Amino acid sequence: MKNPVTDGVVAYIGLGSNLANPVEQIQAARTAITQIAGVQELAFSSLYHSAPMGPQDQPDYVNAVMAIKTGLPPIALLRCLQRIENAQGRVRKSERWGARTLDLDVLIYGDQIIELPDLIVPHTGLAERAFVLYPLYEIAPQLLVPGKGNIASLLDQCPMNELKRLG
Ligand code: ATP
Ligand code: CA
Ligand code: CA
Ligand code: CA
Repeated sequence: MKNPVTDGVVAYIGLGSNLANPVEQIQAARTAITQIAGVQELAFSSLYHSAPMGPQDQPDYVNAVMAIKTGLPPIALLRCLQRIENAQGRVRKSERWGARTLDLDVLIYGDQIIELPDLIVPHTGLAERAFVLYPLYEIAPQLLVPGKGNIASLLDQCPMNELKRLG
């Protein structure tokens, strides 16, 4: 296996894109994440289509969730993900939740609860967002979300609304 991580933590990453061929952006990001030294892919969800949060004058999103095993500390993982966002043309704007080529969020990092200025884990929006919960449940139906409860009960309280699983 490429990049085997023998001593690591299981983490979940949320991927999203709504610009410049979102499906290709997500696939390129998956490859780039797998190539980080100290990261091994464990699972990758289906792709999902979701309506945008916040500003409505932007295209729909393609989303997915990836499970990894990693020996990287959480902040180092975040920095690697931000480097991939930048490499794929992410432009940071002042507008909250605006369109982007790539968004990579650390959803969960083992059983840790992290509250640093730059990193909150589990991710703040996780429990309310269908485009996170449904792909997460698909690859980790038994998951216990630290501080928030089990994935199945979070999903029960979150309608699928206009989220669509692709293919
Ligand atoms: P949201 O966080 O609500 O999904 P967003 O993804 O659009 O919104 P960004 O502009 O991508 O927000 O990120 C803003 C900041 O969030 C980043 O600079 C980062 O330091 C911080 N952040 C805090 N917790 C996390 C996390 N778990 N994963 C990724 N970024 C995080
Ligand atoms: Ca706008
Ligand atoms: Ca996000
Ligand atoms: Ca983000």
